[in-house]
Amino acid sequence: MAIQAELTPLNRDFREYLLRRHATIGRQQRFRGTTREAFEAWQPQARAVLARVLRMPEELGEPELVREVLDPAVQPWAGSRLDERFRVERVCYQSMPGVRVAAFLLVPTPLHAPAPAILCPPGHGRGMNQVVFEQGIYKQYPCELARRGFVVLVPEHLGFGERMPTLFGEHGYYTGVAQLVGFTMYGVYIKELIRALDVLTGLEEVDPSRIGCYGLSLGGVTTLLLSALDLRIRTVGISGFFTSFRATFLDVAHCVCGNVQDLALQFEHVDLASLITPRPLVLENGRADTGFPYEAAIDSARELRDRYALYGQEDRLVHDIFDGQHEISGRLAYDWFERWLAPATS
Ligand SMILES: [Zn+2]
Repeated sequence: MAIQAELTPLNRDFREYLLRRHATIGRQQRFRGTTREAFEAWQPQARAVLARVLRMPEELGEPELVREVLDPAVQPWAGSRLDERFRVERVCYQSMPGVRVAAFLLVPTPLHAPAPAILCPPGHGRGMNQVVFEQGIYKQYPCELARRGFVVLVPEHLGFGERMPTLFGEHGYYTGVAQLVGFTMYGVYIKELIRALDVLTGLEEVDPSRIGCYGLSLGGVTTLLLSALDLRIRTVGISGFFTSFRATFLDVAHCVCGNVQDLALQFEHVDLASLITPRPLVLENGRADTGFPYEAAIDSARELRDRYALYGQEDRLVHDIFDGQHEISGRLAYDWFERWLAPATS
């Protein structure tokens, strides 16, 4: 609505043309059945369409994991809330062949048995250092999860933080070039996160049957897409994203890096989240998050609840609508991950 009010008549013409197209041929993968059997037949073919639209790189490199424990005393993390209940490692591994990823790994201490683990993809900002060490909108949520007994992996997305291509400007360079050579950048993100799951589930400290994923904003949409595709993730937290394409990207101006060719023609947010059903899912939306309006999230969650009802498991979907902005809440999510993934008490 805000966009419409500010457009000149000439620009309104094209925008309305685009909206008519979306209304006419958008959301082609919407589930239209009424039974659990039909839904379970729908999921694999919808997953295949999503994988095709994302145009991920085909290859994975050998992980070649390198781990380095960091000494909090020599790190420039003044003001961060770190404590003796977990240690921070800096790790490096390969995603695609020859492509190194940097990440922080948080390991609860002491750890007497393999623990559940949570993958935390960063949002559209200053990357993994911001997510782990700054209060701000992330509230150091990976540290809170580690304090509660989870192993946590926070990988750096390509184009952000330590992987920002400064010589070529910001992350938009990667988005553009990836398209030129046949990928979408979201496809690259998801492929890298699939590799992150390989790394996480391969750690001796981790129980690979108890894996979660939780992210805000760009971390929320990558959590959504990864969890839709990769069934190793058993419990999911999506913060500051789940609404609808109609209410966000079509109606609110976002960075162009968030656009995947054809994605909204095939799916709405609720259709993507239906690929997580019936796994436990917590949604977070701040009432003051203008980029991702919570009213649209309520409507979409209502439809999503119908998918969980096919299993008689509506209690596996919870929605934390909180008084806040574009930020992590955690009000329900921390307990949610504990409830479904049950960290061992040490
Ligand atoms: Zn961007």
